[in-house]
Amino acid sequence: MNSGKLLIFSAPSGSGKTTIVRHLLGKPELNLAFSVSATSRPRRGKEKQGEHYYFMSVSEFKNHIKNEDFLEWEEVYRDNFYGTLKSEVERLWALGKNVIFDIDVAGGLRIKKKFPTQTLAVFVKPPSIDELKIRLKKRSTETDDKINMRIAKASVELATAPQFDVVIKNYDLEVALEEAEKLVGDFVNS
Ligand code: 5GP
Repeated sequence: MNSGKLLIFSAPSGSGKTTIVRHLLGKPELNLAFSVSATSRPRRGKEKQGEHYYFMSVSEFKNHIKNEDFLEWEEVYRDNFYGTLKSEVERLWALGKNVIFDIDVAGGLRIKKKFPTQTLAVFVKPPSIDELKIRLKKRSTETDDKINMRIAKASVELATAPQFDVVIKNYDLEVALEEAEKLVGDFVNS
């Protein structure tokens, strides 16, 4: 298992990394494909099976862990497992794509460790914890309890930023998008 480039985008929930990843996926010259993660969390809104995530039960997820099917996995929130299936990266590499990941900081750093030279690990930094709270509330896809859980985790995640190859400050979305495009363009062409 060794082929195209890997682009990791990690950040606290609500930092805007998903927006950045979607923007990059819209640039054909970057030749990117999104790594669809497996998760045991319930499906939200318009999310589609196999497109946003491979949704599965906790027991199915645990079976994949036992079979060593994951490149990395995390219990990101209690009973909400998330992981990257080895078969997903192999599938996208077989298509000749560079693979882009929208995953949590621990998972991102684990992939970087496994593929140090092939991977660009990017941390997306929100302006502040308060701003993060506002963004998550605006999104209103989760209960207050879940939002608070995500905020608590965000403080811990922010401390891992220096372990990434590069930090993008998402204070102004347009600036962050431009910076991300330039970084990824340089890396995939290097
Ligand atoms: P959400 O529930 O908002 O879709 O995602 C929650 C968190 O799980 C986000 O930080 C997201 O990036 C992370 N995540 C999604 N897929 C994976 C994965 O495959 N592995 C890991 N470690 N984290 C993931």
